[in-house]
Amino acid sequence: MLPEAVAAMADVLAHDFGNPSGVHREARRARALLEDARDRIAAVLGAGPHEVVFTGGGTEAINTALLATGPKSVAWSAIEHDAVRSQAAAFEREGIASYELPVTCHGVLDLDAALEVVADVDVVAVMAVNNEVGTIQPIDELATRLSALDRRPALVVDAVQALTWLDLRPITASSDFLAISGHKFGGPKGVGALVVRNGRKIRPLLYGGGQEQDRRSGTQNVAGIVAMAVAAESTDRARSERVKNLAALRDRFVDELVSTIDRCVETVPRAYKVAGNAHVCIQGVESEELLVMIDHQGIAASAGSACASGALHLSPVLVAMGVPVDDARGSLRFTLGADTTNVDIGDAVAIVRASVAKLRGDRS
Ligand code: PLP
Repeated sequence: MLPEAVAAMADVLAHDFGNPSGVHREARRARALLEDARDRIAAVLGAGPHEVVFTGGGTEAINTALLATGPKSVAWSAIEHDAVRSQAAAFEREGIASYELPVTCHGVLDLDAALEVVADVDVVAVMAVNNEVGTIQPIDELATRLSALDRRPALVVDAVQALTWLDLRPITASSDFLAISGHKFGGPKGVGALVVRNGRKIRPLLYGGGQEQDRRSGTQNVAGIVAMAVAAESTDRARSERVKNLAALRDRFVDELVSTIDRCVETVPRAYKVAGNAHVCIQGVESEELLVMIDHQGIAASAGSACASGALHLSPVLVAMGVPVDDARGSLRFTLGADTTNVDIGDAVAIVRASVAKLRGDRS
């Protein structure tokens, strides 16, 4: 978490015990903190404060949005996070039509192909930035083309990965529902927000005390929400400088990996991606083995594949992009952060290179 977000959270936890729904002075103070945080988040997102509904994280915001209108049919990009993917599977089990929208080999929504599918659906879900390969999706253009349809579907945008890298204001303006999550931009985990636009009514996921204007019941996590607002503002202010610095570091990192490791390829050209994402495929190694090796040497990375009960599952994102199986098996994702340095990059390249050599050597 950003230090200023930790400080703001600690301050509320230590001094503001009030429940924002109460009537006494303590409660009014908590209410003021909550509404101030709502104003600040709304400003960063380019939304009206009344459009911001606080939730317990990104997954809840996304599920609320998908269920909000009681859809009879939904379409979602083939590279969506499980928060969308699993809800789409649940829809299917309930007999609600669910369509997967194709992406190009660069991990970007194939707009022409998508438009052929979405004409009759109630909800279209496309993320702003992919969590695995870091690709930026054409939300503006999609929204324009959806508006030209006879019956415009509701556009749900999972912007959970986006706020650090992109100004969300134009993306919010293009969407009907937009989800963010505090822990992706220096705030706490378990707190997020759903922006509900264009006067849309929502069917709540949670019923109870009627908080958040009857859109999400349950006492708000005031400390977490205040910290999320502080983190959102800091991130919004620091973005352009950070993007410039991290793009340079990421470029050096990927260039060195690709040029010094045999059969290591960049998965997606950088022009399609956010600055902090480095994603490569290294043939002839299993990413799970490599991850464990580099973890022991202090490098925290992740794979495009997940190991469940010993079986290697290829990432649905890479499969949707048509990445060859041999490449996908050795896929590796690194995320650079505000405190990543040139020295870190040099160390990481050396560790990955040596580990790949060891794994390949162990096999031969
Ligand atoms: N959507 C994307 C793109 C994500 O990367 C994540 C988290 O990793 C989520 C949704 C879920 O957010 P949360 O962990 O806050 O529920």
